[in-house]
Amino acid sequence: MPICQLCHKDHKLRNSHIVPEFLYKELHNNKGHLAAINGQGNKGYKPLQQGLREYLFCECCEQHFNEYCEKPFQSQWIYAHPNTLPDPWSVSEPYWIKVDYNSFKLFHLSVLFRASVSSLANFSEVSLGPHQDKLRKMILNRDPGKFWQYPIFGVAVIHHKTKKIIHSVTMAYRTKYNEHTCYSLIYGGVQWSTSVSSHRNHEFERCALQEDGNMPFHAISWNELEVFQTAATMLRNTR
Ligand SMILES: [Zn+2]
Repeated sequence: MPICQLCHKDHKLRNSHIVPEFLYKELHNNKGHLAAINGQGNKGYKPLQQGLREYLFCECCEQHFNEYCEKPFQSQWIYAHPNTLPDPWSVSEPYWIKVDYNSFKLFHLSVLFRASVSSLANFSEVSLGPHQDKLRKMILNRDPGKFWQYPIFGVAVIHHKTKKIIHSVTMAYRTKYNEHTCYSLIYGGVQWSTSVSSHRNHEFERCALQEDGNMPFHAISWNELEVFQTAATMLRNTR
């Protein structure tokens, strides 16, 4: 019998989300924009209506994710008023926000961890090696680590003309930044990137979420992001 991927106990597994469902709900509120991008269509991609699930975690661990990662993120990001980020994006400087460092970081690490233990095609680029178990323990112990451990960097994804934030959920993709491996996923209007390395990534961490909860954001047009370019081409070719 498969074990729970978080507590490693032999408990009954739930059909678990990788990216939490509430982030897909946002897509339905933003009709007309690109929806979630799934790596499983006949040409590689297709728009997604609902979040992907897999039998991964026990009920107790699902509650753990919900209580210590998802609920705090929801209240800080989704329900925050006024809007957490400028929308439309009207600033040229980096835009700083202040969040609760522990829960905000744990949320993003928990999504990356879930993507890592998932066997779904959408998350196949995530391969954390020894970092997977480190993240597992950090999440279980509710320990977000220092700001330079798995630093998280955010870029708002905006429309090239209207400058409005685009809500979408993408597959996970791997990039390199100064020889360090980074993983990115887009959800909640932002491309969240995590540097996964045994060595410090100084340049990256300066732009990342800081331990006092301050975090700078930049914006990038959706059509400059490779993941969207690929998906848009694929979608055109399947119609
Ligand atoms: Zn468990």
